[in-house]
Amino acid sequence: MDMKQIKNLSKINIHIKHLNTINPTLFQKSVINWYKKNRRRLPWRGDTFPYTYPCNTLQEIGEIPDIKIDAYSIWVSEIMLQQTRVITVIDYYIKWMKKFPTIFILAQAKEEDVMKLWAGLGYYRRARYLHQGAKYLIQINNEKNNVNVMLPSSIKELKKIPGIGEYTAGAIASIAYNKPTPVIDGNIIRLFSRLFIYKASSNSTQLNKQLWSIGKILIKNCNENKEYNQGLIELGATICLPKKADCINCPINQFCLAYKNFNSNNNNIEKDINLLNFFEKKIHQKKSIKKKIIKSVKVCDHKNCDICVIDDDLDDDPINRKKTVNISKKILKKNQQVLPPNSVLIYTLKKNKKKPKKEYLISLILKNIKNDCYILNKRPNTGLLAKQWEFINIKITEEEYLIFDIEKKNDQTLNLKKYIEKIISKNITTTNRFNFNFNFKN
Ligand code: SF4
Repeated sequence: MDMKQIKNLSKINIHIKHLNTINPTLFQKSVINWYKKNRRRLPWRGDTFPYTYPCNTLQEIGEIPDIKIDAYSIWVSEIMLQQTRVITVIDYYIKWMKKFPTIFILAQAKEEDVMKLWAGLGYYRRARYLHQGAKYLIQINNEKNNVNVMLPSSIKELKKIPGIGEYTAGAIASIAYNKPTPVIDGNIIRLFSRLFIYKASSNSTQLNKQLWSIGKILIKNCNENKEYNQGLIELGATICLPKKADCINCPINQFCLAYKNFNSNNNNIEKDINLLNFFEKKIHQKKSIKKKIIKSVKVCDHKNCDICVIDDDLDDDPINRKKTVNISKKILKKNQQVLPPNSVLIYTLKKNKKKPKKEYLISLILKNIKNDCYILNKRPNTGLLAKQWEFINIKITEEEYLIFDIEKKNDQTLNLKKYIEKIISKNITTTNRFNFNFNFKN
């Protein structure tokens, strides 16, 4: 969606109408001032030890290195922080920067060493991407001085590097090079959804597109892009949380439509919540009160908005709905059941997650007693945990698992031993050479 389309929407769309009431400069100032006073001390922000969180492997690390804050160190932190908590990343980040302080050194490293340092952090593809990215940068800078090679500053060039998408490119460009590029990650999706009362799944493509456009408008003419973007990230990570929002202490509450709605309905809500507690055990009555409370909330009227989900409890007129619903009503209902009614929390809906696939495996811990070493297997080059080492796992069917489970419960060790040998001989050709000692674990 471009600026022109956004302007057209502003005539009728409640979210964009609200955007037009916000002065970007005032908004930026509120975020930046708060960030400067309240930000956490972290190694990728140029802070020296101690940090806001402990460094648990300090003894193992030894001396904490001086980390130079540049596009490379920002890149490493952004990749490590994907799907991982700050508190977990700290130790890994310091170890990484100590061992691979530059792109050049990382590019020269063996893949095994890179993976070894990442072991335990999860999502191993990220480590491989960093390594491939470093090699790519060395390759494209062939003519120049490879030792000092650095990441480019343009979003287009950054996105050519393996593993760098829109968000990471925006983070590197703004934090390392102070470019006015927005960053929209999971935390900011939640924050903006509440600011502009979007009621949609956080993985909705349309919501994401619109939030990137809004992000571009809000960052316009900002001089301190680095602080502004980090401030938004920090707000999403510490104040505007998925299950708790500290709206009273939020520096942007004067711009937040969810908060305004909540405040304007607050007196009624208190009464309703008391009533709700009274009927706590009478589920059917509780539901009807909840419905009444939800009705009193000001939400998207669905006019010219094809992002928010239609809420049946709000009795919209179906004829006026011009919508593409990205999330099933079932999920919406599930969210309403767990969230407090009429709070700011209703403006982000959980992701529509895929059901996990069930797999049944027999894990063999095979020890060569003579050499006192274990036999490990390297996983395939692609897919889940690609190229990782593991004990030998044998995939079995659900039926086989059930037999296995019954035998184990009945402690039929002898039968079980025969049964496992049968499965193993089907999968490992050298079975005869092994002498099995059974020690069952779930
Ligand atoms: S006022 Fe509350 S809901 Fe709004 S952005 Fe701040 S913390 Fe989030």
